[in-house]
Amino acid sequence: MDTVLPVLPALIDRGSAARMKPGMLGELVRSGTARAMVLSGRQALVSGNSLVLLDAAEIAEHLQDTPYVPQDLIYLGSALAGSDLDAGTELVLFILPQQFEIRAEEFEAHVAGIPDAAQWAGFREVAARLNPTDTALFIEASAIANWHATHTHCPRCGNPTQPEAGGWVRRCPADNSEHYPRTDPAIIVTVVGPDDRLLLGGGGPLDARNYSTLAGFVEPGESLEQAVQREIGEEVGVRVTASQYLGSQSWPFPASLMLGFTATTPDTEARPDGVEVTRARWFSRSELQEAVLSGEIIISTRLSIARSLIEHWYGGVIQDRPDTP
Ligand SMILES: [Zn+2]
Repeated sequence: MDTVLPVLPALIDRGSAARMKPGMLGELVRSGTARAMVLSGRQALVSGNSLVLLDAAEIAEHLQDTPYVPQDLIYLGSALAGSDLDAGTELVLFILPQQFEIRAEEFEAHVAGIPDAAQWAGFREVAARLNPTDTALFIEASAIANWHATHTHCPRCGNPTQPEAGGWVRRCPADNSEHYPRTDPAIIVTVVGPDDRLLLGGGGPLDARNYSTLAGFVEPGESLEQAVQREIGEEVGVRVTASQYLGSQSWPFPASLMLGFTATTPDTEARPDGVEVTRARWFSRSELQEAVLSGEIIISTRLSIARSLIEHWYGGVIQDRPDTP
């Protein structure tokens, strides 16, 4: 196994120059060449193992004068060679108005071309069966949609802001200030003891059998390494003497970028804080594999950077119980 987590190539060219052209989004939609992904709240239209991508011009026309006129249109970019779409496919995100609990039948009555089996689904429900391009689109769309939903007003003067640059900037018409999408850095860490055992923790409303890596948000003015040291100290009371960056994963629910580290500690006792972490346990490699197979503990799914970090320490693939989805 590599010494760092695998780096996934970009599958979408976000077209940061193209999207600066005023009016580009309207032109693109009218051109009849763009495909549209549709988000309602945190759910997208999914059919079988795929995101439903509709004809953008057609749905823009069909949704006119309905309650479903999109609240925001965003330029997602164009598919790169190596993606699961034809290279150059232009992609637009239609964000339906938040105030509606969208019922599939009602929306579908206004829009042609939706497969019969299509359903509204959240990322977690479908991520395991989507191809890498659909996964990347769902994550990009969720990140930018969450930002628009929570940044409708100017933080300087309180006036409503307007999206521009294909939906990647919001501008305040009163003071002309520009506002850019934000991402909150969070560290996620495997803690390895002097005997090479791994420290995992659990807490919160999850099943008491759940154990995972430790994680927390980076605070203003703090380096990533300092955040690792502080969070691990706070959550499980162990001292971190060294940490190494291994890779990252976007987790825009609502706006995180997970920065994966492995850290070493000279300590062998862990003291959970009782708030964020209520249980902590050291595992040797064979203990961890046995506990997962017996169902004694549940660790993070394959989709998560937590699992990649744990398997980085393990040195290979950890077998799940046969009944794991
Ligand atoms: Zn303002």
